[in-house]
Amino acid sequence: MAEIKKVAVIGAGTMGNGIVHVFAQNGFDVTMVDVRQEALDQARATITGNMDRQIKKGTLAEADRDAALGRIASATELSAVADADLVVEAATESRDLKFRIFRDMDAHAPAHAILATNTSSISITEIAAQTGRPAQVIGMHFMNPVPVMKLVEIIRGLATSDETTRATVQLAERLGKTVAEAQDYPGFVANRILMPMINEAVFCLMEGVAEKEAIDTVMKLGMNHPMGPLALADLIGLDTCLAIMEVLHSGLGDDKYRPCPLLRKYVAAGKLGRKSGEGFYDYRSA
Ligand code: NAD
Repeated sequence: MAEIKKVAVIGAGTMGNGIVHVFAQNGFDVTMVDVRQEALDQARATITGNMDRQIKKGTLAEADRDAALGRIASATELSAVADADLVVEAATESRDLKFRIFRDMDAHAPAHAILATNTSSISITEIAAQTGRPAQVIGMHFMNPVPVMKLVEIIRGLATSDETTRATVQLAERLGKTVAEAQDYPGFVANRILMPMINEAVFCLMEGVAEKEAIDTVMKLGMNHPMGPLALADLIGLDTCLAIMEVLHSGLGDDKYRPCPLLRKYVAAGKLGRKSGEGFYDYRSA
């Protein structure tokens, strides 16, 4: 398999900007692609701000920041994957959207390229089946915030080759990450366990078991979680949480995965968490 030098990242939202950040910081040329120019501009500003914070902490030199930012290109058309050795798809968590993106990526990316997805829950096997190269399709599930979190969950689809898996694991390790491998079932490991906990926290809020601050305090101080589940849901994005619960519910067919009606209500109202300025908590003055 050819050495991976050029990377494209599809989707420049919460996860996309972090994925671009770590690739650029580790010496890769990265093209970030989003259908919204505004998302690309915001992503560059976020990456710059996060790198500035690393400089203040003494973990990044100014010259390295400038070099990393210089390796990042932007595009609004998917055809920009034409010279990529690896594409990481990090667009909105929607099955139909990802299917379409993978069909387009398959048409535009070089034949040798690995097509990875950062999906939280959608079947890698089904995504791979949209392409003519299912052996080169794999789940590369980064955690939020990407520059900080050590884990990458690597998920093989039914047809994913050993060679693709090996190359993806090695790549994640070159980014300084630790890999855990999982099989292709709804939500894999991370969200199979995390999302029902978040959903249950929203049920507690809906049923008046406790105030939001109390729910988060119980899990922080009682279970030693660094963040409470409602604050974490705001960080992840409530629309993403709902989409993952829907995949668990339909994919596993058990009503224990039914999304909480209050979660649906917040999403319907456009309260998506940090990315919209308000979710369970208000971030507009921050
Ligand atoms: P987000 O809503 O913050 O960003 C999604 C971006 O995709 C938006 O900027 C949108 O404009 C863009 N997009 C939509 N359609 C597109 C297209 N056709 N081509 C290119 N870009 C397109 O979402 P996110 O939280 O960054 O999630 C992205 C993926 O990462 C999802 O699959 C999600 O499940 C997964 N994920 C999210 C988290 C998290 O904590 N938020 C963690 C791990 C994995």
